[in-house]
Amino acid sequence: MGIDNLPPLRDVLDRHDLQARKSLGQNFLLDLNLTAKIARQAGDLSGHDILEIGPGPGGLTRGLLAEGARRVVALEKDHRCMAALAEIADANPGRLHVAEADALDFDPASVLNAPVKVVANLPYNVGTELLIRWLTPANWPPFWDSLTLMFQREVAQRIVAEPGDKHYGRLAILANWRCDTYIAMGVPPEAFTPAPKVHSAVVHVTALPKPRYPANQKTLERVVGAAFNQRRKMLRSSLKQVHPNPEEILEIAGIKPTSRAEEISIEGFCALAQALDAK
Ligand code: SAM
Repeated sequence: MGIDNLPPLRDVLDRHDLQARKSLGQNFLLDLNLTAKIARQAGDLSGHDILEIGPGPGGLTRGLLAEGARRVVALEKDHRCMAALAEIADANPGRLHVAEADALDFDPASVLNAPVKVVANLPYNVGTELLIRWLTPANWPPFWDSLTLMFQREVAQRIVAEPGDKHYGRLAILANWRCDTYIAMGVPPEAFTPAPKVHSAVVHVTALPKPRYPANQKTLERVVGAAFNQRRKMLRSSLKQVHPNPEEILEIAGIKPTSRAEEISIEGFCALAQALDAK
C-alpha cells in the first residue's frame, strides 16, 4: 500500500488495461512518494479547491488528497481512466470531482470554489497553451492563487528566465509581469512510465494581486511579440512592426535604440507599451 489504502498504481494500470497513449501525451507517474512530493510543492492544500488537468490513473490525484486538499476537481479526456478515478473518489467521499472533458474546451469555473490552486502533470501537447490562457485572463487577479505544473525542463526554464538569459522571451515576460515564478524541482525521465526523451521540471507560479508595472496587456503582448520575433535585431529595427518610428517610443521609454530584446527588463517592456499607447 502507498500513501492511502488504494492498490499500487501498477496494479491499477493492469486491472484497467491502461496502456499509455502517445497521442494523449500520456507519461504516468507511478511512485506515490513522488506524487505526494509534487503535491507538497503547491504549499498548504487544506482550505483550497485544486484543479488538476489530466489525472490519468490518478497518481498525482492521490498525492493531492493525501496532502490534505479540501477538494480536487480533475479534468480527464481519456474515458479509459474513469473507472480508476471513480475508485479514488469512492475512497475519498465528497473530495474528488472528476469530469470527462477536454481541458481546452471545458471552463471549470462553475465547479470550483475559491480559493483555487492548479496542480497538474500536464499533457505536454496542451501544457503551454493552457499556461498562456491561465496567465492572460480578461481580468486580474485570475481565478487561481497558484499554479504548480510539470513541464519539459526547457519550457520550465523559459517560464522563469531573466533578462540576458538565453531562455528569456515572451513566456518569461507574460509570467513574471504579474506572478512570482520558480522551478520547484527537477524530475528525471525514468520517473515516468513510459520514460519521455527529455527531463522535466515542476514550476511554481504565484499570482500577484496586481501587475508589477502598469501596462495594457494587449499592447505589452504586441511589443514583446515584435521584439522577440526578431530577437537578434536591434529594437529600432524589430519594433517597426508596431510603430513607424520606433526611435521615438524607445526614447520616451528611456531605452537605447541599439538594445536587443533579450536585454530589456519587464519594466522596460511595460514602459515601451505605455509609450506606444500614449502615441
Ligand atoms: N497526472 C497523471 C500522472 O501524473 O500520472 C497523468 C499525466 S499524463 C502526462 C497527461 C494526462 O492528461 C493523461 O492522462 C491524458 O489522457 C490527459 N490529457 C491529454 N490531453 C488532455 C486534454 N486536452 N484535456 C484533459 N486531459 C488531457
